[in-house]
Amino acid sequence: MTLDTAINYLPGIGPARAKLLETELGIKTWLDLALTFPYKHIDRSRLYKIRELTSDMPFVQVLGQFLSFEEAGQGQGRKHRLTGHFWDGEMFLDVTWFHGISFIKKSVKVRKDYILFGRPGVYGGRLSVIHPDLDNPEQMTLSKMSMQPYYSTTDRMKKAGMTSRTMERFTSTLFSKLTYTLPETLPSYLIERLHLMSFDKALRAAHYPTTADELAAANMRLKFEELFFIQLVIMSYARKRQQERIGKKFARVGELFNTFFHRYLPFPLTEAQKRVIREMHADMKSGHQMNRLLQGDVGSGKTLVALMVMLIAIDNGCQTCIMAPTEILAEQHLQTFQNFLKDMPIRVELLTGNVKGKRRKAIEEGLLDGSVNILIGTHAVIEDNVQFRSLGLVIIDEQHRFGVAQRAKLWSKSELVPHVLVMTATPIPRTLAMTVYGDLDVSIIDELPPGRKPVRTMHIYDNQPEQLYRGVIREVEAGHQVYFVYPLVKESEKLDLKNVQDEYVHLKEVFPQYRISMVHGKMKPSEKDAEMQRFVSGETQILVATTVIEVGVNVPNASVMIIQNAERFGLSQLHQLRGRVGRGAEQSYCILVSNFKLSAETRKRLHIMTETNDGFEIAEADLKLRGPGDLEGTQQSGIAFNLRLANLGRDGQLVQLARDTATFVLDADPELQAPDNALLLRHLQELRKEHRDWSQIS
Ligand code: ADP
Ligand code: MG
Repeated sequence: MTLDTAINYLPGIGPARAKLLETELGIKTWLDLALTFPYKHIDRSRLYKIRELTSDMPFVQVLGQFLSFEEAGQGQGRKHRLTGHFWDGEMFLDVTWFHGISFIKKSVKVRKDYILFGRPGVYGGRLSVIHPDLDNPEQMTLSKMSMQPYYSTTDRMKKAGMTSRTMERFTSTLFSKLTYTLPETLPSYLIERLHLMSFDKALRAAHYPTTADELAAANMRLKFEELFFIQLVIMSYARKRQQERIGKKFARVGELFNTFFHRYLPFPLTEAQKRVIREMHADMKSGHQMNRLLQGDVGSGKTLVALMVMLIAIDNGCQTCIMAPTEILAEQHLQTFQNFLKDMPIRVELLTGNVKGKRRKAIEEGLLDGSVNILIGTHAVIEDNVQFRSLGLVIIDEQHRFGVAQRAKLWSKSELVPHVLVMTATPIPRTLAMTVYGDLDVSIIDELPPGRKPVRTMHIYDNQPEQLYRGVIREVEAGHQVYFVYPLVKESEKLDLKNVQDEYVHLKEVFPQYRISMVHGKMKPSEKDAEMQRFVSGETQILVATTVIEVGVNVPNASVMIIQNAERFGLSQLHQLRGRVGRGAEQSYCILVSNFKLSAETRKRLHIMTETNDGFEIAEADLKLRGPGDLEGTQQSGIAFNLRLANLGRDGQLVQLARDTATFVLDADPELQAPDNALLLRHLQELRKEHRDWSQIS
């Protein structure tokens, strides 16, 4: 029997179960089942005595007998429960069931040996175990009881009686039927070089290891393989693109760039800004398409860098465009650009959903005849049928809101592919960047403009607003401005969250002496802009907002960021919000206000914020806390998230190893033509077929 045998040919799996396995877990073949790994193993080689148990232990097992059962709480709305008195020869333990009581009463016998397996806890003031697994010790030989695999099952599977135990039976049958050594999937030179376990051994041991060390080695082998093939695909595409995609050659740094640099640049560039501009120019004059990710913490001056590389493109006879994730940001870019370029012969236009009719027509004509040099817009607009005469460079601001597929659409904008620069202030952890944006070269601005004071961050509880308000008054009286940010627009009954509109009214009462603006996502763009503008110009001292202001908004005079219900925000969002202050020379503050009921994870998140201002550190912590699937914008990429075993948060070193190995393999044999690499080539071709869209990514 081979691994591609259909799952219903496995003894114990009839048509009904085969159907459920397919619809619930996507298991169609023996291989699919073999690749459905346990989410944990529990060491069942040890039996505990009841006297050893404490309520903070993880799963334990105890050998003993039920001496009696007691049923309580039937009727009168009390909780129906069944309690068994479990005796290990020394002591009693309460064992309680709330569901399936009639089944337990029928099937569990008194004065018969059971191995009870569960998590001790406290119920009604007594140590007890709720809903344990019960095994017949005669069927559980101690050797088989070493490392027991636990498999995820869905609700529908559970309803049909398919539990982790059922899956365990399936996989153990599967491996007993696979009596031969499974064929290797990696070339032997890599296995030797990296001291990997064989595929056959690793696959079996990932389910049925004999020791924890063996499990670790098996997992390492399988995770490596998973990550390695991703890197191989990404890098082979990137290399191909490097050869094939001819980019416009921006050989010169011309007059516009030089004029701006020498005459209009309002402050000296930081060394980091100079370096990344040089890196980009090197790409753009190479004759190949630039595909670069520019990472720089909030406030590191990416906009200016964008502007200057745009000047290079314009100097070389091309048009450029920059896309922002929100209209507020697009409009702010317009102001920034107009401000920087006011004395230069450059036509800058803004295209958003609001620009209609004649005005829009004029801009579209300008794009077609080439007279518009810089187009600023939201991606929604640019994705439409906007046509350019000669688009040479596309800049995407705040990539974490911009999907990979959208990036791919840019190629259709012009006969020669434009250079692409993606900018993000949400630093992407290196391992994630290598995987999700593995096809992009990376430039990093690791230096803030001089004179910035790091924002001071505090975490307070929401029961002492007076203190907070006094701080606000102090700052406003000193001539500064203050943000209040809330998670929601409209009141939600389920969550007791501050509501922007209510709070706006409330703050007006608290601060009758000040003028207050409000912006949120439900406002009309024109209203939103007007309100925002009042704050930007300094007419209002306080801005009450939802996270629409999260990205990019630049008001250097604002010195306090107050985030209400801070427990509701993710780390990268908090970091982004905090980046709205600390943009001027004054000491700035970020106040995280939360309620008292915080989970351990939330507490940790808020603590990290008070400990560091370093966006990279925060991004790494975020990845570890939440896993990559939750990181904003990474979902769309689709690549990294079919991982069965590897976790980009935890397996950073393996990602690096996978990348280095892919580089090593492709350097030696770019087309994978060597006989040694035949296995790799075959697998790569399959992956490419499965993911045709990957070619669009790179
Ligand atoms: P971000 O990288 O978050 O997009 P911005 O481009 O908005 O940051 O820059 C933040 C602020 O820093 C802006 O007010 C900008 O004018 C200013 N700035 C940029 N570069 C420099 C520099 N080299 N020296 C001083 N200020 C700078
Ligand atoms: Mg920016």
